[in-house]
Amino acid sequence: MLLKSTFQIKNRFKCTIRVWRTIHNLSVPDGKTYINGKWVAAKSGKTFPVLNPANGEIVANVPDCGDEETNEAVDGCYDAFKTWKNTTAKERAGFLRNMFELQMKNSKSLAHIITLEGGKTLAESVGEITYGASFFEWFSEEARRIYGDIVPSPFKNRQLFFFREPIGVAGIITPWNFPNAMITRKVAAALAAGCTCVIKPAEDTPLSALAIAQLAEEANIPPGVINVITTSRNNTPSVGKRLCEHTKVATISFTGSTAVGKLLFEQSASTVKRVSLELGGNAPFIVFNSADVSKAVTGAMASKFRNSGQTCVCTNRILVQEKIHDDFVAALAKAMQNQLKVGEGLKPDVTTGPLINENAVRKVERHVQDALQKGANLILGGKIHSCGKTFFEPTLLTNLKKDMLISKEETFGPVAAVMKFSSEEEAIEIANSTRSGLSGYFYSEDISQIWRVAKALEVGMIGVNEGIFSCAEAAFGGVKESGLGREGSRYGIDEYVQIKYMCLGGLD
Ligand code: ADP
Repeated sequence: MLLKSTFQIKNRFKCTIRVWRTIHNLSVPDGKTYINGKWVAAKSGKTFPVLNPANGEIVANVPDCGDEETNEAVDGCYDAFKTWKNTTAKERAGFLRNMFELQMKNSKSLAHIITLEGGKTLAESVGEITYGASFFEWFSEEARRIYGDIVPSPFKNRQLFFFREPIGVAGIITPWNFPNAMITRKVAAALAAGCTCVIKPAEDTPLSALAIAQLAEEANIPPGVINVITTSRNNTPSVGKRLCEHTKVATISFTGSTAVGKLLFEQSASTVKRVSLELGGNAPFIVFNSADVSKAVTGAMASKFRNSGQTCVCTNRILVQEKIHDDFVAALAKAMQNQLKVGEGLKPDVTTGPLINENAVRKVERHVQDALQKGANLILGGKIHSCGKTFFEPTLLTNLKKDMLISKEETFGPVAAVMKFSSEEEAIEIANSTRSGLSGYFYSEDISQIWRVAKALEVGMIGVNEGIFSCAEAAFGGVKESGLGREGSRYGIDEYVQIKYMCLGGLD
């Protein structure tokens, strides 16, 4: 069977991609990345392979950039900023609107790229492209609402003004689990504010970033406004450090692990950079006695198993109150058996694709083994799936305890672990007992309880009787060690602007 993708924005980068028993002709760049408006190879000529997590096959080879290419990208980006910041808000809104339309027009092919390099199911990849495009749409609208203030003056002969100005070059470092949307959420806000950017995508999923650069070229976004530095795992620390320490980079926006976020924060101190961080979570999902159990199960399925459990807002600890515990566990087990189908993301009906790589599987295995050794009960799954070494069986554990790894760290896999609790106070104490504070969920039909618990949970985002809350309008971000700043929403622009105060005197 020969399938041909329609992603032919610029035909010059056609390369053949081998996929399980099918051949797709995708116009993804072969051995080139996008710096200062040009498609270029690494100076060393080195490339690194992008692997399909479902079968280990090489999808494409991309340049292994280092410090030299990073400097070049930052210089070009800095020069482009001098012009881009002076475009009108209406012009920038127009560019972003074009990006939105191009992304939607190429939705299927862009989704295909996500599934090839990231493993998620095609349906979820299509969802990510729509979600990712919504940031271009949202920030094309926000671009025209970046207002300043005129402040009442204490002096008769002076007027006071605050301007919101673009901060400058943004260094954007993104993860593999949303290889399109985590870039668009940052880039769209940066461009709307009048900033330019250097994107360093995750080494597992650089093709989606390169596809966004192709869209930018097609949308006639000026050279240097968007740059992509593809780099291998080996070169990543040095490229990251360069971005953090470069005096021409004004801000670092990062989504990824807490450990790397802390390192980037530290490295950015030398130049007193603005830093926005969206880091790991350890989301509690609390089901109170008053909850509608069937709604809670639907929410748990969505928030736990999306992207095979690999999102930063995925449920990590399920806390269920005594009276409904057994009913909830039985209903969740049934839903998992009936609704989840493991397999390659390109196959129809598959709901649960592979994990990103074997390291990810090893972590999930370690968490399950640790829980079982410390007294958890295995209800479903528990081991590597017969589909292959990157696939893990959807797993259900009960009798989760506070000292188990799952309670303390993000599992990032298809493991639902349930803990029984007796009182509301106890649930809140357990939920807040970590240094993470990204998201949380709870189910209750008691309005007073809803208000109390929403206020008590130490997280940046809460789903109340809802398992999925992400959208461009949401203020996305965490508290405690889960991050700094907010993305999306009207606050997303704040990460890319600085306030200038002007006092205009002599007005006698
Ligand atoms: P994960 O564990 O989900 O892969 P990481 O924090 O390791 O999360 O990766 C998120 C992003 O951070 C990726 O783009 C990755 O390449 C990048 N990254 C990892 N280590 C560093 C580092 N030392 N400096 C800069 N970026 C890094």
